[in-house]
Amino acid sequence: MTEKETTWDYLVIGGGSGGIASARRAAKHGAKVALVEAARLGGTCVNVGCVPKKVMVNAATLRESLIDAGGYGMRLGPVGFDWSELKRGRDSYVARLNGIYARNLRSSGITQISGFARFVGPRTIEVGGERLTGEHILIATGGRPHLPDVPGADLGINSDGFFELERMPSRVAVIGAGYIGVEIAGVLNALGSDVTMMVRGDALLRGFDEAMQSSLLEQMRADGVTIRFGHATTGITAASSGERSISVKDKPSCGPFDCVLWATGRRPLVDGLDLGQAGIEQHKHGSIVTDEWQQTSAEKIYAVGDVTGRVELTPVAIAAGRRLADRVFDGQSSAKLDYENVPTVVFSHPLIGTVGMTEAGARAKFGDAVRVYNSRFTNMYYALTERRPKTVMKLVVTGDDERVVGIHVAGLGADEMIQGFAVALRMGATKADLDRTVAIHPTAAEELVTLS
Ligand SMILES: Cc1cc2nc3c(=O)[nH]c(=O)nc-3n(C[C@H](O)[C@H](O)[C@H](O)COP(=O)(O)OP(=O)(O)OC[C@H]3O[C@@H](n4cnc5c(N)ncnc54)[C@H](O)[C@@H]3O)c2cc1C
Repeated sequence: MTEKETTWDYLVIGGGSGGIASARRAAKHGAKVALVEAARLGGTCVNVGCVPKKVMVNAATLRESLIDAGGYGMRLGPVGFDWSELKRGRDSYVARLNGIYARNLRSSGITQISGFARFVGPRTIEVGGERLTGEHILIATGGRPHLPDVPGADLGINSDGFFELERMPSRVAVIGAGYIGVEIAGVLNALGSDVTMMVRGDALLRGFDEAMQSSLLEQMRADGVTIRFGHATTGITAASSGERSISVKDKPSCGPFDCVLWATGRRPLVDGLDLGQAGIEQHKHGSIVTDEWQQTSAEKIYAVGDVTGRVELTPVAIAAGRRLADRVFDGQSSAKLDYENVPTVVFSHPLIGTVGMTEAGARAKFGDAVRVYNSRFTNMYYALTERRPKTVMKLVVTGDDERVVGIHVAGLGADEMIQGFAVALRMGATKADLDRTVAIHPTAAEELVTLS
């Protein structure tokens, strides 16, 4: 082992969304930065998350548009679909992005170090035998899929495995109903798989507004997805043919399936980091304890992104990483991320866009001061089509001035709609402000400024 020591102003562990963003911002402020990445640059989002997922969502949306085209008088004839061609295109797009990220690091003057980092002292890490010391260190190691400890768990794949599938599975069970579960189930169903969702509880998208949950359930069932609530998976078995069956607590087993996909949450990726060497405290499931400034329990060591277990989204990791670099390397002493009112989109069928509080959350906090405005309609796009998904909107307001505290939209365009409304909510918009805004016609978004 070579015992070379190198010292940096900022040593970043993890070249995903948060790490890259923070490293580049620090370099822009003049810091001498090194970034250590064990796998592919771009992290979860680029390689096995948002990006390849959105490509699959786009494919699924196209497939649905082809069905809808008939209603608009288009005669398309039989449409073929080549999953492996789609995968090839998607993989090469991701590879292009990996290259762009490497070039961006170089052009920012950041030293990229390939390898796995572990702490060997308070501000020293070791990567492939080389010791590196950072005046400041950022941990941005992200997360990984979590599988429950049941017999045959490894007979199923996780979301990483989904992106490796060379062929479209014909009969799929998706275990779990968080956003990753409903998104992958929706994609596979739209592309032609026979999809069953195995849900331990009694709702999809736990924690989302009830109107979004029920609208998603209604549409997924209408689209042909089988959804089994109260089905706690206790194991997976494989027949000699390769077919999988799922055993279920207090219920008959389900199957056969060609593919079982676990979508049962994610855990922080801290394996092998030896956090104890630097005195870094962790929460119960391993996430790193940070304060509002992203500071860990160890001096000048910070953490951002999924590894902190807070609002696990790419733009959140990026924003937290940038603000941290602004504070540490540019003297912006008040720079920190506000984790409240983060808008988010679930790329399900229908799309769901949401920002702020659910109705239940608002009632728990503000009681009778809460009022909700609802709308349910068929988007004009579906006026001529056989499929008639509903758009559902809910505005949650509170107090005499009816300040908007929650906006929830399920339906076509929800993904592009919610960003602008999130600005309004963050600025403290009231229902009257929305009412005063002239509608754009004919759109779905106009409903949000004409609710009564
Ligand atoms: C299927 C899926 C879909 C998603 N879709 C969306 C979406 O649509 N929108 C959205 O906002 N978010 C989405 N996310 C979440 C998003 O990907 C994450 O929130 C985001 O990537 C977190 O960024 P991060 O910087 O914390 O970690 P990551 O991006 O995971 O990066 C961490 C990096 O650290 C590296 N690493 C780990 N340990 C070490 C070590 N010891 N030494 C060196 N390197 C190490 C890893 O290899 C990895 O590259 C999705 C996630 C998944 C799984």
